[in-house]
Amino acid sequence: MIYFDHNATTPLDNRVLEAMLPFLSTFYGNPSSLYRQGRLVRSAIDNAREQIATLVDAPASQIIFTSGGTEANNLALATLVPHGKLAISSTEHPSISECAVSLQKKNIKLSHINVDSQGLINKATLDQLIIDQADLVSIMLANNETGVIQDLTTITQQLRANNVKVHTDAVQALGKIPVSFKQLAVHLMSLSSHKIYGPKGCGALIYEKGLKINPILIGGGQEHEHRAGTENVAAIVGFGKAAELAKTELFERSAQLLSLRLQLEVELKTIPNLSIFAEDSERLPNTVLFGMPEIDGEMLLMKLDQKGYAISSGSACASGGKEPSPALIAMGVESTLAKSAIRISLGIGNTQKEISNFIQLLKVLVYQA
Ligand code: PLP
Repeated sequence: MIYFDHNATTPLDNRVLEAMLPFLSTFYGNPSSLYRQGRLVRSAIDNAREQIATLVDAPASQIIFTSGGTEANNLALATLVPHGKLAISSTEHPSISECAVSLQKKNIKLSHINVDSQGLINKATLDQLIIDQADLVSIMLANNETGVIQDLTTITQQLRANNVKVHTDAVQALGKIPVSFKQLAVHLMSLSSHKIYGPKGCGALIYEKGLKINPILIGGGQEHEHRAGTENVAAIVGFGKAAELAKTELFERSAQLLSLRLQLEVELKTIPNLSIFAEDSERLPNTVLFGMPEIDGEMLLMKLDQKGYAISSGSACASGGKEPSPALIAMGVESTLAKSAIRISLGIGNTQKEISNFIQLLKVLVYQA
């Protein structure tokens, strides 16, 4: 299989697996137990917290481990309950957009922030949010489908100056570009382990000191009473190790990914009528979303699958559905072109040869269609 779907998930790094294994066998103690094995397991969790804190330049004490990015996003938005005004960008992952809609039943007022044709936040709508006195704004740092990176530092400065709290979903940015909680100056940030070669089912919410967290899971003192339940120790240790590796290898990884992405884009552009979405925006070094009018994206993906390529049409949750991606529609992309969208998300195991072979095959399939 040629795997081109790293924004859906990444393979587990062997070094991460090695770090996890003792916590799936020998060290099975409960981290809340006071005897020696419990304490040892507790210190492994603390170490993972430090590793993640180092990667994102945040205080370790402000990190809450969760079951993944989805839970972190839900927990972030729950800080608004019992009432408040929430604004989200119109290209958010469903773990924000659908959660936000469900919060409307709980006295939360919701509005959407438009993006332009390049997927970037429209500055005028930001001003409107300030006028409307939003309490919390959620803007993803990098989009899972287009890879578009927002200029969040500038946005946060403006919102902070007007007492608006900011959450960012940094799930896709993590491990691909430098992410600094301190520099972005956000109040809340969500992360996920399985997008950075760590295990699935583990993530984190980072919060600014003093911000009140409303726990979703109640019934235990874990995570400073912010998230009850016995910790998923092996996964947390794996997430920590994946974060450590992402920190030490970040520049090498992103340079390698960018050179592959550029190779891919140059070759894609030789196909007539092909458009790369948000081409003019700063994008993740690993992500290309493209479309071709007259081409049925789902059909093409099925043919590529038969030839051994794992590629998605957009976000993992949206693929398989007939509806065009809401992110592309928000960018004003015409519906048939949006339905043809194919996302290639590269990873550190991909090679130049895989890309040139893919392009050769793609051309054959497109010209046959
Ligand atoms: N946010 C973004 C931008 C994502 O791409 C994803 C996963 O695809 C999530 C959140 C959810 O993360 P998890 O799978 O860890 O729940």
